[in-house]
Amino acid sequence: MNTVRSVIAQSGLPLLEARMIVGHVLNVSRAWMIAHDSDSIAAGSLVSIQEMFRRRLSGEPMAYILGQREFMGLVFKTNPSVLIPRPDTELLVETAIDLLQNRPGATMLDMGTGSGAIAVSVAHYCPQAAVMASDTSAEALAVARENAQNLGARVVFVESDWYEQLPVGKFDLIVSNPPYIHHADSHLEQGDLRFEPPQALTDFSDGLAAIRKIIAGAGDFLQGGGWLWLEHGWDQAESVRSLLMEAGFANVESRRDLSGIERISGGQWVISE
Ligand code: GLN
Repeated sequence: MNTVRSVIAQSGLPLLEARMIVGHVLNVSRAWMIAHDSDSIAAGSLVSIQEMFRRRLSGEPMAYILGQREFMGLVFKTNPSVLIPRPDTELLVETAIDLLQNRPGATMLDMGTGSGAIAVSVAHYCPQAAVMASDTSAEALAVARENAQNLGARVVFVESDWYEQLPVGKFDLIVSNPPYIHHADSHLEQGDLRFEPPQALTDFSDGLAAIRKIIAGAGDFLQGGGWLWLEHGWDQAESVRSLLMEAGFANVESRRDLSGIERISGGQWVISE
C-alpha cells in the first residue's frame, strides 16, 4: 500500500524535500503527515507526487516545482521566468525597511524586481511608502504583479531596461539585486542556477556591468539625500564601493549578511542641483 510514510521513504529525496512535496500535493501540514503516516495516498495525488519527485531528482529547484518560495515571512509565487528569492537578499530588504519606516510618503524604486520579492516585501512592511518596481522582462513582471496582488502590497510596476523606459521621478531610495555573476563563474552550471533565467544571474560580462549601469544613472533618479543600495557577489564589495565613490556618492558602506559576507553596498546622493 502507498502510505504517507512509504511514499516519502521511497522517494530517493532528502526527507525534508519529500515531505514538502507530499505536503504540498495533499495540502496538509508536516504535523498532519507525521500523525497520519500510515494513511494511504489516493492514486491521483500519488501520480502528482511521483511526477514532482521525478522533477526534483533531475535537479529542478524546489521553488519551481512547488511554484512558491518563502521570503521575509511571505510566500512568493515563483516560476522559471524569475530568480528564486534567496535568504541573502533579506539583508537588502531589511536595510530598505530601516530607511523607509516612519517616513510616510517616502519613495523607493526596485530595479530588476524579478518575482517582486524586494519591492513587495518593502511595500508590505512599510505600507506608507510609495514603491515602484521595474523589470525588462514582461514575464517576470506578470509574476511580480501577481505576488503584489496576493500579498496585498501596493507597488507600481514598469517594464524598463534599467533606466531607459522609467518615468521621470526622484526617489528617496533605489535598491537592486541585479545580475552580478561573472559570465565564466562555474556556479552558473550548478544546482538551482542551471534552471534560473541567465539574464537574472549574470551580465554576460565581468559581473559588474549591470551594477555600473545602475550606479551611473542613479543620480538622475535620486532626491538629494537619497540612498542607493545594491546587492552584489561575495568578492565585489570593494569594487562596488569604489564605483559608488567615483560616481559622487557619500557615506559609502557595505553590510554583511548572516554568513559574515559583505553582501550589500550603498551610498547617499548628497549632490544638490
Ligand atoms: N545570489 C545569487 C547567487 O549567487 C545571484 C543573484 C544575482 O545574480 N543577483 O546564486
